[in-house]
Amino acid sequence: MAESAPSAPYRVLARKYRPRTFADVIGQEHVVRALSRAMERGRVGQAYLLVGPRGVGKTSTARILAKSMNCERGPTAEPCLECAICHDIERGGDLDVIEIDGASNNGVEDVRNLRDAVATRPLRDRRKVWIVDEVQRLSGPAFDALLKTLEEPPDHAIFVFATTDPHKIPDTIVSRCQVLEFRRLREEDVRTKLTMVCTREGVDVSPEVIAALARGCRGGLRDAESMLDQAISSADGRVTLDDLEMVAGLARPERWLDLFEAVAEDRPADVLRAISEFLARGGTERDLVEQGSESLRDLLHVALLGEDALGVEPEPARRDRMRALAKQLGRDRLEAILGMLFELEGRLQRSPLAARALLEWTLLRAARLGAFLDLGVLVQALQGGASTAPPAPQVRATPSVAPIPSQVAEAPAPAAIAPPPAAPAPPAAPVVASSFEGLLEALTRRRPALAEAIRRNVIHGEIGEQGVLVELRELPPRERVMLDDPAERAALAKLPGSPGPWEFRITSTARATDDLGQKLLESFGGREEEP
Ligand SMILES: [Zn+2]
Repeated sequence: MAESAPSAPYRVLARKYRPRTFADVIGQEHVVRALSRAMERGRVGQAYLLVGPRGVGKTSTARILAKSMNCERGPTAEPCLECAICHDIERGGDLDVIEIDGASNNGVEDVRNLRDAVATRPLRDRRKVWIVDEVQRLSGPAFDALLKTLEEPPDHAIFVFATTDPHKIPDTIVSRCQVLEFRRLREEDVRTKLTMVCTREGVDVSPEVIAALARGCRGGLRDAESMLDQAISSADGRVTLDDLEMVAGLARPERWLDLFEAVAEDRPADVLRAISEFLARGGTERDLVEQGSESLRDLLHVALLGEDALGVEPEPARRDRMRALAKQLGRDRLEAILGMLFELEGRLQRSPLAARALLEWTLLRAARLGAFLDLGVLVQALQGGASTAPPAPQVRATPSVAPIPSQVAEAPAPAAIAPPPAAPAPPAAPVVASSFEGLLEALTRRRPALAEAIRRNVIHGEIGEQGVLVELRELPPRERVMLDDPAERAALAKLPGSPGPWEFRITSTARATDDLGQKLLESFGGREEEP
């Protein structure tokens, strides 16, 4: 019906479909229950702090509370939405319900005015309600002034503060408020709401688009609604995944399949092209990591639980590709790549200027993971498993430096080991111990501390076709940090004679006493140097 009334002013979906009663608020049952109960028992507090991510219903809830308190047929947990007061509050025109944006009203003057205004009685309503959004952005002096008001608020005043960042609010304020925590919304909840909105708007949106929005908004309904808004206004009829990609920067699911297929098959040129195309469409490196992780998570779920785990039925062609890719990568590699992306997220925060290089480096490394995981086939053979190499490796790769176990090297260190005996040869593992030693010598000349750290802890080093794999004992935290440093890693990759990036694996020395560890060491000819 919406299209038949072109004269009506257009309201964005998030506003048009904002919750009007407690029953409309989705995904925040605990908050709704607490507030409705307080309302029914006549025990509404004088100061609330609503904490939670943006776009999950904090301000809407504050308005519903104001309506509940002031509705002509109230106070009630179910405001009528029909009386003059309910209407005025909904359109932001009630003189006794004052909304303040902390971001734009952070001067002391404003808060002094607030104190004066708080002292005067409501003009019409039962209570004066102050809704302060983004309260953490008030300045220090403004907080002090606010605190004075909160110490002894007049009976007719209720304060509802909303914040995305509670840590920035002084304890003196927080301790005077009842704190209500809002959660990120579940995908199902967002999906349900968006489906309802589309039906009411009479727009044709495929379930796939809804699913992509529900996922892409990361729990913020308002973001999902505004992306939907943009997609609807630019779509030509039915809203498609292409529209979503164009206007909202949500990459089509196929893009992720392209990227991760390239990773699975170690096609570096295609990996780089996929990254470059994503960035060219306006996404940032962090967007890529976030959306890419979600997509990997889907593949992992398909690998572990089957495709029913997706919750939404993908198109048949894509479903087949997902199934094949999940199988090809397998659980271990999927988990390892996910781990690398999580690590990358932290690195991007620390070194935003190197974002693109870090992203490319990580995904190229992920692409080579398969070669390293072949090691798993050997280990399995040593364990007495099937000697016919299965496609899915059984050993989990450590993407970078493994977590520190609590016991550090108290077990007896393995003795010096003889060169590899005639064991089942690894499929593609050129073990060139002397060259690895040569590399370490070259490194000593350039970065003595780094070389020393590796030398002190190395069990085994191996030069592959495109990189170097180093197995290390547990090493002290300081040295771990050094090895994990992107700058040091870059230096290693560029070292003369090094075929590419270096991969470190930590093997607890405690584990070296078990059978498998021992066999692994023997078969690789580990070397031992006591510091
Ligand atoms: Zn009413």
